[in-house]
Amino acid sequence: MDLYAGLPFWIIKNALYDYNNPLENDYEIDVAIIGSGITGTLVAHELCEHGIKCAIFDKRIVSNGSTVASTAQLQYEIDVPLHEMIKDIGEARAVGAYRASLRSITDIEQVFEKTGVKGDFKRVSTCYLASDQAGWSSIKDEYEARVKHDLPVRLLNRKALKKEYGIAGLGALYNDTSAQMDTYKSATGILKYHQKKHQLPIFSPVQIDHYYEVKNGYELVTNNGFKIRCKYVIIAAGFEAGQFLPKQVMNLNSTYALVSKPIHTDQFWKERSLIWETAEPYFYMRTTADNRIMMGGEDEEFRDPDKRNRLLKGKVKKLVKKFNKLYPDIAIDVNMAWCGTFSSTADGLPFIGSWPGKKRMLYALGYGGNGITFSMIAAQVIRNIILGKKDDRTDIFGFGRLTNDGDL
Ligand SMILES: Cc1cc2nc3c(=O)[nH]c(=O)nc-3n(C[C@H](O)[C@H](O)[C@H](O)COP(=O)(O)OP(=O)(O)OC[C@H]3O[C@@H](n4cnc5c(N)ncnc54)[C@H](O)[C@@H]3O)c2cc1C
Repeated sequence: MDLYAGLPFWIIKNALYDYNNPLENDYEIDVAIIGSGITGTLVAHELCEHGIKCAIFDKRIVSNGSTVASTAQLQYEIDVPLHEMIKDIGEARAVGAYRASLRSITDIEQVFEKTGVKGDFKRVSTCYLASDQAGWSSIKDEYEARVKHDLPVRLLNRKALKKEYGIAGLGALYNDTSAQMDTYKSATGILKYHQKKHQLPIFSPVQIDHYYEVKNGYELVTNNGFKIRCKYVIIAAGFEAGQFLPKQVMNLNSTYALVSKPIHTDQFWKERSLIWETAEPYFYMRTTADNRIMMGGEDEEFRDPDKRNRLLKGKVKKLVKKFNKLYPDIAIDVNMAWCGTFSSTADGLPFIGSWPGKKRMLYALGYGGNGITFSMIAAQVIRNIILGKKDDRTDIFGFGRLTNDGDL
């Protein structure tokens, strides 16, 4: 699948990690990770740090799937608001999902501290805007749910929103626990760190075509017929993981993003917060380390890459228009724009862990708008499963939540 098109900012800004190491023999390793995006990277990080022997296999250039197209906002707020998720899946699981999401931002920060990788990780605040009256009503319910469950939040009414953000709107929720990063620089930086420190083997380009379950593990077969024998296989294949799933559990969407030319720092809004809204699909924006504005949204149901790509020009105009509705005085000079494919699930949560009956095939599928924070959770849960440790997050994010027919 063609995962993105156009000019994703991170691949232009950073030097390409031009690494070529195809597999030329059969191979054996304790844990085989399929995918070298941010998810496979964080899984490898957790396994390497715990002395578990693993290797990564990717059919593309390293970290060149969705990871390169991401706008990389890290928020504890999940696409489905907490008060709605409580109604859908119950209080304990919904609050557990939100708390896990909050914790994962600190855990990602600690990966940077531990490895010393400079991934442009930066703590920022979030402003979640009410797009209309229905959104304002939802925001008030959301505020109460978050306060009740002790999640960081502040309610901004119309007056406070105008005073603090200069935005004419009904109101918003604010928190100061979010972050942003450069996903490509982060993923390739962390991979290089473990290649050096733990001799992490990375094979790219290597496409896994099919697999067999064997005694105590799996045998993976590459497109040129080499066999990889492993005790565990981790599916970190992003939105292309369908080939490894007994049943499709996600919907594919197309999404659009752009980055402006740098602007003067005195033009930025309060704290250079991440800003998003209650409307669906939502518009969102952040800033970059070199003083650009990055924005995205305008999602559509995915049909085919050609249709997705043809819409890019029109979507860019719409994104700029939405930005200027909030900040009419900031002129946006679009520098780069791109589109990508991403997946969402019906309950807004990722799929992490093993499919019933496939104990040694572990999935790290961070579907939804919080893909990267979910990747961090997946990495830790998978590490715990392999180490035989109990992790309560498997009940929240596992396949056990599917019905017998494999639906949510
Ligand atoms: C425009 C856009 C904006 C986004 N914004 C945000 C955001 O603000 N915050 C956030 O948290 N998330 C965001 N996301 C989602 C986030 O980017 C993804 O969740 C994340 O990048 C997924 O990483 P991954 O490693 O799972 O997948 P990928 O980066 O796609 O990596 C999977 C890898 O698996 C490899 N692979 C697949 N199949 C095989 C096979 N058979 N054999 C070998 N290799 C294989 C692929 O080549 C690929 O490199 C955004 C996504 C997009 C597109």
